[in-house]
Amino acid sequence: METMQGKSVFGGVAIGPIAVFSKVDTTVRRESIDDADTEIERYHKASEDAKNQLQALYDKALKEVGEANAQIFEVHQMMLDDLDYVESVENIIRSENVCAEYACATTGDNMAEIFSSMDDAYMKERAADVKDITNRLIGVLSGKGASGMNATEPSILLADDLAPSETVQLDKSLVLSFVTRYGSTNSHTAILARTMNIPALIGVDYPENCEGKTAIVDGHKGTIIIDPDEDTLAQYRVKLEEQQKEKELLAKLKGKENVTKDGRKINIYANIGGVKDVASVLDNDAGGIGLFRSEFLYLESDDYPTEDEQFAAYKKVVEMMGGKKVIIRTLDIGADKQVGYFDLGKEDNPALGYRAIRICLTREDVFKTQLRAIYRASHYGTVSIMFPMIISLDEVKKCKEMAETVKNELDADGIPYGDVELGIMIETPAAVMISDVLAKEVDFFSVGTNDLTQYTLAIDRQNPKLDDFYDSHHPAILKMLKMIADNAHAGGAWAGICGELGADTTLTEEFLKMGYDELSVSPSMVLKVREKVRNADLS
Ligand code: PEP
Ligand code: MG
Repeated sequence: METMQGKSVFGGVAIGPIAVFSKVDTTVRRESIDDADTEIERYHKASEDAKNQLQALYDKALKEVGEANAQIFEVHQMMLDDLDYVESVENIIRSENVCAEYACATTGDNMAEIFSSMDDAYMKERAADVKDITNRLIGVLSGKGASGMNATEPSILLADDLAPSETVQLDKSLVLSFVTRYGSTNSHTAILARTMNIPALIGVDYPENCEGKTAIVDGHKGTIIIDPDEDTLAQYRVKLEEQQKEKELLAKLKGKENVTKDGRKINIYANIGGVKDVASVLDNDAGGIGLFRSEFLYLESDDYPTEDEQFAAYKKVVEMMGGKKVIIRTLDIGADKQVGYFDLGKEDNPALGYRAIRICLTREDVFKTQLRAIYRASHYGTVSIMFPMIISLDEVKKCKEMAETVKNELDADGIPYGDVELGIMIETPAAVMISDVLAKEVDFFSVGTNDLTQYTLAIDRQNPKLDDFYDSHHPAILKMLKMIADNAHAGGAWAGICGELGADTTLTEEFLKMGYDELSVSPSMVLKVREKVRNADLS
């Protein structure tokens, strides 16, 4: 029996045989060629074939895992046409008189290196996509077979890392858990595991030659046990049974109301980072979207997303939600979320610096573009807007003025928009202390407990050294939460929580007692929170 520690990216227990994912051999040789034009033509033909393969993968993924998860294959098709990529391959073939395989491999390595060295976490992860399309091209050029998992029964899948095109080709019914050596919390595999609701670990240095051995993945502890002894196996079988029962019970809660035994109702919404997350929101039967972190649109783009690009994304989410409420938070960049083209500059204390609404209120062009896009999308469903990092009444008034200006402009242009609630995030102690005043100005509050805890306890939420000091149940936070709900209601606003604490089921009853109207949590936590609500009795 061998136990290895990794980092859990999704909880749960899985028991089964190990299947090791085998990659296509993409090593290439530097072969000389005589005719560069013919070789470039061969490359373009391979690129066309690769795009056809990707189209087929897109179609397959669309049916199996929905549009949100299929989109990556559209992105890969576009990456194959990326001018920098194409020009680099052509230049290498022509200037070095080498084969297309070698030119693609060199280009892929160079571009992946550039992405990996970027500070931005999202851009870093694009390195995996460049490698993925490059391997596909090499596979087509050299006629090598496909990568895959050699399993005939449900198995624990071990891999160095899994590219999106590799995960979609997997027969999902055969995957009990993902365990990878590399990858990050936000990697595609982690996202897929959350969507599939199966345990997943990253950073596990598993031994070679373990194919077929029995293993246990404990997604709560972040461990994998290979060749477990009978006692351990028996203990985990009990846990697995409990987990299975819990899943069945939770699934039965789909379509049920979020109501306590004594009749108190609450809305349970979900948090998303973009269009790709909506499938999971719907699958988990969330009542709406309580936090759409719109900054991901900016993080995913290498220039300011235009009004039309933003409109398309918001409209898609709004339409997919079919009339259910979608609360779009305006741009919250700065601090840990750096976007190169904003040129924000280095700051000594970025969490206390030029971020979120402070940027919007000083960059009218950026703010207006986003608000116009959101208002336009509001015509297609139910949209609310909330402003992050508010510290003063003056800021709220300025945000409202800007919203009015945008509406007037849309009226003048004859562009329709819906009724849009305006709210603010309460995530600074200043906003808490003047929440009585702010409540009279807005339709709702949504408490960002992640930042509120950071600013109240003076603990950098990004610093792992301070994990032991970060007490999310600190009495100061709980007192503030009560004060916020009371002041919201006294001022005629409704109150929700969209920070991580909203999903802490040890506090669900407390939140209900405080009078919260809404909790917005990650999609996979919606049914758990619903269960907690339905078991609560406040009388
Ligand atoms: C929060 O601060 O609690 C919040 C929901 O916003 P973010 O985590 O995006 O800063
Ligand atoms: Mg925040």
